[in-house]
Amino acid sequence: MKCRKIALACLFCAVPSVAFSTDGPADNPLVRLYVFDCGELSFPDISAFGLNNSDTDVRRLFVPCYLIRHPEGDLLWDAGLDPAIAGQGVVSAGAFTMTCARSLLDQMDDMGLSPDEVDFIALSHLHFDHVGAAKQFPKATLLIQAAEYEAAFLRPEEFGGVYDLEWYGDLAGNPRRLLTGDHDVFGDGSVMIVSAPGHTPGHQVLLVNLRNAGPVLLSGDLFHFRATRRLRAVPTFNSDANQTLASMDKIERLIAETGATLWIEHDRALAETLKLAPAAYD
Ligand SMILES: [Zn+2]
Repeated sequence: MKCRKIALACLFCAVPSVAFSTDGPADNPLVRLYVFDCGELSFPDISAFGLNNSDTDVRRLFVPCYLIRHPEGDLLWDAGLDPAIAGQGVVSAGAFTMTCARSLLDQMDDMGLSPDEVDFIALSHLHFDHVGAAKQFPKATLLIQAAEYEAAFLRPEEFGGVYDLEWYGDLAGNPRRLLTGDHDVFGDGSVMIVSAPGHTPGHQVLLVNLRNAGPVLLSGDLFHFRATRRLRAVPTFNSDANQTLASMDKIERLIAETGATLWIEHDRALAETLKLAPAAYD
């Protein structure tokens, strides 16, 4: 395979010397990406997502967790719904319902993995459906944008109820690294946290460069539905609409430049086509 590197100095300002690698199999570290089913949300009315209810028939949202295993360490990306609801059937939360068949830790246990083995935890943002199991990884170093930490821990009441310290307050005890932009997790361009604010002040997405599957971009909540991307829809509960649209532009450019496959994390139809853990993408 022809060796190719794409310089993304403009996108990865925090690490301007790093190029995202799309090299052939001989050059890339062996990275494995595991997808876990960490629940489902069901919304009878999707107007809060900046969509008309006629824009899409989709009402059920997949809630994933991901584990990225790299020779230099393991990264948990997003932590799903509260594991306390696992096995409880349909749980009502007012305007929507939630279910979670099995907890993340049970699924990891099937693979012989303990949460204490996980070195890093990064969350696309600190809304409830992305932080559920995070408190079960107290030894992992939290990789979080300074803007997200500041908003969620220091002034959560300013964001209309989307933050609640009960969900993620324990993470204040984790070792942490505050980020101020894009971040190369293992220093080799294979796993890149990409700042994409607007849904929340420190929202971020993840670009994983896999030997065989190629680059995969995990969307966080930059897009909730395929229709969100098509219509550039901005949810009413986003922290900044203009910032959201600028982040959509940035990530669309990144996808075009890298050829990455976009996985809209909440896309249930996509999830039904994915291999779930213990199977992996590499
Ligand atoms: Zn979400």
